[in-house]
Amino acid sequence: MNLSRRSFLKLAGATAATAAVVGTGINKVVAEYEPVRLNYAREVPNLCTFCGVGCGIICHVEGGVVVNTEGDPDHPINEGTLCSKGISHYNISYIYDVRGKSQPNPQRVTQVLHRKPGASDYEVIDWDTALEKITRKIKETRDANFETTDNGVTVNRTKAISWLGSAFCTCEENYLFHKIARGIGAINVDHCARL
Ligand code: SF4
Repeated sequence: MNLSRRSFLKLAGATAATAAVVGTGINKVVAEYEPVRLNYAREVPNLCTFCGVGCGIICHVEGGVVVNTEGDPDHPINEGTLCSKGISHYNISYIYDVRGKSQPNPQRVTQVLHRKPGASDYEVIDWDTALEKITRKIKETRDANFETTDNGVTVNRTKAISWLGSAFCTCEENYLFHKIARGIGAINVDHCARL
């Protein structure tokens, strides 16, 4: 391509003008959404639930809903930084559309899905039915496999139940899971992040 000095300057000018217009557009989109997301939000310090490092996170909450999360600069562990997993905490329940605007994740599971033995599809059941079913099965399994002694030592345990926590739950929820698991005598208790 033959480019004279004059053509080069014209092209450079046009490119710069285009970049300015596009840049203004992007800035406009960001300016349009970012302040709105945090406006009037309350800051709630919390911990990242994804691994045992325990980085501090600030949740911005509006009307009882988390509208943003970011690293806590006052936290001694991470001093405001977050790894790629921690930074995605907000996306537990949100996704971004093509314009970069966040919206509730339409694929988030909000109902109890139950697949009967041998069935190929899930069916929606209500929470009362699900909790009753789960509770009954835990009780039956525990009672049928409870050990009180092992070689003359009191153990009061069941090895028939394994309990796995979840990185998608809060620290408080995982604490309660742990209490329940120990309460029924389960000794095989774990969490993907060893929390
Ligand atoms: S997953 Fe990342 S941000 Fe979360 S606690 Fe671990 S290191 Fe920190």
